This record gives sequence, structure tokens and C-alpha cells, in this order.
Amino acid sequence: MSGYVARTGRQAGRSAAGRSVAGTNLEHARSHNRRVVLDVVRRLGPLSRAEIARETALTNQTISNIVDELELAGFLLPGVPTREGRGQPPIPYGINPEGAWSLGFHVDHRAITGALVDLTGRPVALREVAAQRPSPQDAAPILRRLADELAAEARIEPSRLLGAGLALPVRFDVGAITTAGPTTLPGWDGPDMRLHLSRTLGQPVLIENDAMAAAIGERLHGAARDIDSFVFLFLDQGLGAGLFLGGQPWRGASLNAGEIGHMIVVPGGRPCPCGNRGCLERYVSLSAAQEFLADDPASDTAIDLAAASPERLERWIDEAAPHLAAAVNILESTLDPETILLGGVAPAALLARLIEKAMPLPMSVGSRTGRDRPRLIAGAVGRHTVALGAASLPIFDEINPRFDVLLKR
Ligand SMILES: [Zn+2]
Repeated sequence: MSGYVARTGRQAGRSAAGRSVAGTNLEHARSHNRRVVLDVVRRLGPLSRAEIARETALTNQTISNIVDELELAGFLLPGVPTREGRGQPPIPYGINPEGAWSLGFHVDHRAITGALVDLTGRPVALREVAAQRPSPQDAAPILRRLADELAAEARIEPSRLLGAGLALPVRFDVGAITTAGPTTLPGWDGPDMRLHLSRTLGQPVLIENDAMAAAIGERLHGAARDIDSFVFLFLDQGLGAGLFLGGQPWRGASLNAGEIGHMIVVPGGRPCPCGNRGCLERYVSLSAAQEFLADDPASDTAIDLAAASPERLERWIDEAAPHLAAAVNILESTLDPETILLGGVAPAALLARLIEKAMPLPMSVGSRTGRDRPRLIAGAVGRHTVALGAASLPIFDEINPRFDVLLKR
């Protein structure tokens, strides 16, 4: 396992939609090839050895060795050969759901959610524990207990776990802008946090911010399975984004790319705890919705959106949707993604309504003709998107082709 997930020095690779990543026949790139094979089988499988070789541009001998190795490790499962013509029918290989398991935790202001998933990302066990703005010290015993309970419920030996992923509403190594306000969780950005959590859980731990964890979950198992370049908008108390460009997560120079909640969309607009005015998340976020719906906007009590009057919620959507549409225009103009996904912990009906009301979207490079999917779509993973995304971090680390591997001497 690397440090933070796949912190690549170079976000290279092919950018054409859904195309397979080529392998390399150089001996030092075995681990890259292993990932390339797992990635192709995950997206297109089940596939025969010959089909894998064709997709990855690797030699039949290389594929044969890797497939044997992955089958022995339990990651690939041989299927029933399909007879076509004469000769020995080829064996199709798919991802073995029970080849490995992985734990994921989502820590936020109100709760700690834990998930245990199989190698295909299917949740086998899910649990949630209420916790008010937990510090790492508060969270440690809860995480340990959840890990034990999830493994017991799923009847998985801890030794069969690939590791654990932890998703948090924080940004890394930055100053005031992200440690201020209701949308962050202080105390979690210490330099030894990963080591500390690995000791707590007795597992290798990967830490990711909530938006990127959810984006990785959508990429592995959700609506972005076959999309190489996309923006995942994460609607929570704030508004963040997970960026995927050319099949790789894009983290930026300080690991804080996607902090779009603080893009100024209304110059001189509502004050934001970051110090600016008119930030996007002051209009498009659950905290913005709660503030709009509260009788006393200064009150600290969270409003239950499910219990809110539908007419008032609709009025908030009317206010928020044009700002969401403007954000789509900015992101498309900057990044030219294949599509933009909207997801998060908000109810699916609310996300769908926001998307509907954001139409028609303003013109941008995204207005191109011949698109094969809409410009703005809903995420597929649902309410537990972050915990499931966190659980997919160790799997993603294991199977996503990384180009930095090829640069090592
Ligand atoms: Zn702001």
C-alpha cells in the first residue's frame, strides 16, 4: 500500500473514453500489468486470456502468467468455457467477489458509518453509530468496535481483509480556509494520522477526503464505471468535488483539488466562514438548504430535510439550481469532462430535483453534439456513498493502473 491513495507524480494515460490501458512488457512493471489486467476484467469481464491480451496489448505469455498468479491469489475466478467452433473452448475469467474484502469508514459531523465490501464492491455489512463532531480520540474505540462487528456479521477473518479506507470532510496540509466553518472536522489532519489509525484497526489504512472517496466508489462500482474523465459533485453540509481525469484521480499540487464549494459565484454575496463572500456552497449545500428552511437562520439546530415542507424545499431548489448550473458551466469550461455526476448523502429525490431544475444548462464546451450521456447525472451509489467509497480505496489501490509505477528505476 502506498501513502495516501495513488498519489501519482504524473496523471498520464490515455484519455479516450473507456479505452483500456495498455500494459508494458518490461519486466520491472509486473505490478502495473497486474493492475491493468484486474482493471480490464473489472470493466469488461468475464474475459478469456486471449481477450485480455488483446485489450491490454500484452503478450499471451505475460497474460498467462498474470492470470495464473491472480487466480492463485483468489482475485480472478475461472468461469464455464463457452464452446465456439472447434478446439478447446477458452475459459472466461471474472473478478472473484470473495477474493478479498475491504473495510470503509465515513466519519462526519453526526455519525461514523462503517461498511464491509467484497472485491466487487458489494456491501456485505453496514453499520452507523451516532457521534457529534468526533475527534480522532473519540473515534478510535468506535472504529475498532465497528470493524469487529462488521467482520463478525459478514463472517470474514480479519486476515482476509485488504485493508481499510477512511473518508473525512477535511483537506490536507492547508491553512485556514478548510479548517474553518461547519463543513470540516478539526483534529484529523495530523501527520501521523494514518499510522495511528493503522495501529487502531490492525490494518493498513488509506485516508481520503469524502468527495474523492465517493468519486472513487462511483468509478469502481457506480455510475462512472466506464467513464475516464468526470467530476463527482459531492453534496453534503458543504459542496466538494472528486476529479477523475484520464482514468486517474486528480488531487492537485497540495492534494486539495475539487474544493469547489469556495468558488465565488456571487461577488459580494453571502458571507462564508472561509472569509470570502458569495461562495458556491453558501447556496448549494445541505447547510444552505437548512439555513433557508430554518425559521431562525442564526439557530444552530439542524433541520431535517425529510421533514421539511415540500413547498419550502422546492423554493430552496429554485434558488440553488441556477448556481449548480453555473458550476457545471465552469467545470466543463475548465476540464471538459465526459460528464458531471451529482451525489452525496442528500436524499436521491432531492438530487434528482436539483438536476431537473438546473436544466437547461448554460452553453459550454459540454454542449457538444453526439454526446453519449447527459452533461449532469445522478450518482448511483446512494446514501452510503462515502462509506462504500472509503471501502473501495484499498481495492482501488490494488487494481487501478498507476503510471508512476512505470517511472521507477
Ligand atoms: Zn467560502
